Amino acid sequence: MLRIWYDIFMQRTIRIQLQPSASQAASLADTAHQFTAVFNAVCAVGWEQQIINGVKLHHATYYPLKSAYPALVSDLLVQARVKATEAVKSAFALRKTGRTVGMPVSRACPPRLNLHTYKVDWESRTVRMSTTGGRQTIRFAVPPYNAAYAGYPTDTADLIARNGRWWLHVVVTVPAPTVAPTDQVVGVDLGLVRPAVTSTNRFLGKRGWKAIEGRLFKLKRALQKKATKRAKRHLRKLSGKQARFRKDCDHVLSKQIAYAVEPGGTIVLENLTDIRKRTMIKKHTVASRRVHSWSFAQLKSFVAYKAEERGCMVVAVDPRHTSQTCSRCGHTARNNRRSRDRFVCRVCDYELHADLNASRNVAAKYRASVGISDTGGLSSISLSYPSEQSA
Ligand SMILES: [Zn+2]
Repeated sequence: MLRIWYDIFMQRTIRIQLQPSASQAASLADTAHQFTAVFNAVCAVGWEQQIINGVKLHHATYYPLKSAYPALVSDLLVQARVKATEAVKSAFALRKTGRTVGMPVSRACPPRLNLHTYKVDWESRTVRMSTTGGRQTIRFAVPPYNAAYAGYPTDTADLIARNGRWWLHVVVTVPAPTVAPTDQVVGVDLGLVRPAVTSTNRFLGKRGWKAIEGRLFKLKRALQKKATKRAKRHLRKLSGKQARFRKDCDHVLSKQIAYAVEPGGTIVLENLTDIRKRTMIKKHTVASRRVHSWSFAQLKSFVAYKAEERGCMVVAVDPRHTSQTCSRCGHTARNNRRSRDRFVCRVCDYELHADLNASRNVAAKYRASVGISDTGGLSSISLSYPSEQSA
């Protein structure tokens, strides 16, 4: 059942810009403020009493908070608690891995609205929503880039303030594209120097990313050694900058990857989720991975999001040996790789770009796992180096 639903519909998040009156804007600000206060209060209880169970946190906090914030409707109170539970849970999980983590605190936690607290009327371009100033009908505009998804059934929405403007990030359920699946399989090798190389000879992303990432990394290291308050503040800023930079890169790269495949095809990535935990992978291999400290989960989810719109599937395979195996004869040896870029097979002398070789192994691993014969095979592989795609 779930599978059918997934195939016919997909969820997209669209941003709509609210156009509140001055008094409505004040209500929105007050709602966001109270929601954040409840979030922080629940976090404090969860953190101090070590509660990560949502029901227990509800019992411990609901009535005191309800009387402290009577203007906040019950459902918003509950949503703040749900968000706080997640925050406390992940903080405890992070602490278990040995990181120094403090109690979660938010300066602006976006209120989460749902069918109890808001209703979009696409026709009149108004949204009716619960605020601390009562139920309000607020006009909104849909930016052109989201126009295609306006009018569909809504799920939840987050209320977000940015640069003095109010936005709703609305999750809508839209029909998935009807694309017949094809046999096309494109393997992708992810790296630091070459962010992504496909088995169809495409070099994606920018080489300059590594230098920027390296600079941010070094700066962070230097600041981590200083214990001053100023250094700590600088470090927080830098961490935000790094996260935004990586997110931007992931957006660019995921789009390029999703468009490297024809509609209906399959994209194969290496499963790098637990790469740091794997002891079987040698240290230098790990260091050469872009995802050493970079979130693979984020990139994968971005690729999946964009691929879904094109009717493509995204799968992940075991990354072991993909860089050491000859994609022509299958001989596996570490010394097949002569340098960072150059792969020369010790047995059959097959020579090509090392990342390209790896990406073909990634594709072949998936084909083998689902029993697709390697029809593309050797005949279609050009033996010359591909020209680098200008990005
Ligand atoms: Zn070979």
